[in-house]
Amino acid sequence: MKKGILVVVSGFSGVGKGTVVKELIKRYDNYALSVSATTRPRKLNEEHGKDYFFVSREAFQQMIEEKALIEYAVYVDHYYGTPKAFVEEMLSEGKDVILEIEVQGANQIKKSFPDAVTVFLVPPSVEELLSRLKNRGRETAQEIEARVERAKTEAQSMGDYSYLLVNDQIEECVKELHAIVAAAHAETIRNEEMMQKLYNELQI
Ligand code: 5GP
Repeated sequence: MKKGILVVVSGFSGVGKGTVVKELIKRYDNYALSVSATTRPRKLNEEHGKDYFFVSREAFQQMIEEKALIEYAVYVDHYYGTPKAFVEEMLSEGKDVILEIEVQGANQIKKSFPDAVTVFLVPPSVEELLSRLKNRGRETAQEIEARVERAKTEAQSMGDYSYLLVNDQIEECVKELHAIVAAAHAETIRNEEMMQKLYNELQI
C-alpha cells in the first residue's frame, strides 16, 4: 500500500486553520488529523483527546524524554507537541496526516520528514485577521496581543513553506488544500514503484 503524506498546516492565530482542517477531514476520506499534546489550559468547548491532549508540564516533559513526540515547541508560554505513534500508524495505513502546528514545529518536521507538504494559511488582510481574532472571543485582550506579536515573528517564516494559501472563502480554501495534497501524490518522487513497474513491463 502507498504511504500517506504528512501535511503541515501553519498560519497566524485566528486565520481559521482549525476550521479549514476540520472541513477538509469532513469532506474527504483520505485524511487523519493528528491531535497534539499541550500544557495550555483547556478552553470552553474544547475536549480532551479530540481538540488536544491537555497534559501537565511534567507529563509533557516525560513525553519529550521518551521521544514520544515527532516535534514540539513553546508557543505563547505553553508547550505543544505532536505524538509520534498516531502519525506513524496513520501514514503506514496510507492516510494523509494533517499536522496543524506552528512554525518552529514545522521546521523540525521538515528536517525529519523532508517529503512533508508544508502549507501556510494567510488571511486576506491583517484587518480581517484582527477582527476574526476578536470575534471568536476565545482569548483575552492580552492573549490576543501576544498572538499578534507572535504573528509578526511567524510571518518571517512564511517563505520557508511550499505553499501560501489565502483563507478568504473557506470552501475555496479547503478545495485548494485538497488539490495541493492530490498533486503531491502525483509527484514522481512518490511514485518510484509505478515507474519501476512500467520499466519492467516495457523491458527497459
Ligand atoms: P491554540 O492555542 O490556538 O490552540 O494553538 C496555538 C498554536 O499552536 C497554533 O499556531 C497551533 O497551530 C499550534 N500548535 C497546535 N498543536 C501543535 C503542536 O503539536 N506542535 C506545534 N509545534 N504547534 C502546535
